[in-house]
Amino acid sequence: MTVAFLSHSDCGRHDTGWSHPEHVGRLRAIPRALREDYELFTTIEHLEGRHATADELAIAHDPGYVALVRDTARAGGGRLDADTVISDGSWDAATAGAGCVLDAVDRVLDGRSSRAFCAVRPPGHHALVDAGMGFCLFGNVALGAMYARARHGVERVLIVDWDVHHGNGTQAIVEHERAIHFVSMHQWPWYPGTGAADDRGPHDSVWNVPMPAYLPPAQYLRALERAVDDATRDFTPDLVLVSAGFDCLAGDPLGGFTLELEHVHAMTRAIVERANTWCGGRVVSALEGGYAPDRVAAASMVHLRALADLG
Ligand SMILES: [Zn+2]
Repeated sequence: MTVAFLSHSDCGRHDTGWSHPEHVGRLRAIPRALREDYELFTTIEHLEGRHATADELAIAHDPGYVALVRDTARAGGGRLDADTVISDGSWDAATAGAGCVLDAVDRVLDGRSSRAFCAVRPPGHHALVDAGMGFCLFGNVALGAMYARARHGVERVLIVDWDVHHGNGTQAIVEHERAIHFVSMHQWPWYPGTGAADDRGPHDSVWNVPMPAYLPPAQYLRALERAVDDATRDFTPDLVLVSAGFDCLAGDPLGGFTLELEHVHAMTRAIVERANTWCGGRVVSALEGGYAPDRVAAASMVHLRALADLG
């Protein structure tokens, strides 16, 4: 079984403009970097994911909001908040982004792939049940978790989010599900202002790890691993989803964490090794933030290598 690399050309059709930090150049840098790593390129399986349907999106989102995104895109575009743009291609892009994650969940759960990384945009972890925000339209990873339970009968899902921003949308979507445990490590105080350590959700199924900026990298790694271990103490996941935001890297224009590529490798391995003992190593990861395109691409390579058991 191989590691799947899923993307979709429609993800490039979400047109935010080049002055927006979440522009299409972030995604284009990833296959470019992949072509320069022959070993990785030939190890993984390259796949174009599918589009999520409106019914699938409604597993996590209010159907009226799903229709609003579709209709706004069809009308030529608009704006959901100051940062969150819809262009005429955004419906196709956002359904492709979510659909890649659903496809990856299908593949990993039915055994066609061992693990998967989805290079998608727009990102998802700020999207609420009935509203987009923070560059995000649909909660790709939260939807993946809900879908795995609803459509595959998976019992327990762990979501690990190391994007530098709190995954407030993911929390809002999954915190009512006792069988989905959510770990989010994020800069604090920082956008979007949620994610305090004592916010455990209504069922104590959320582990928020707020961290100051500019700490030594090892402190972030230790904090994340400790939270993952806490979240799985009496809870063995059947599937692990990762919100891989690479704005946790040093030098990201929208974050103050200090991680380098080696730390992305280490975090990924920490999750893969635990997943190997929990659930046959079933990990599905999806790109969230990360606003220095070359760094996002380099981190994606390191992350993929770690998913694929390469050094
Ligand atoms: Zn972020």
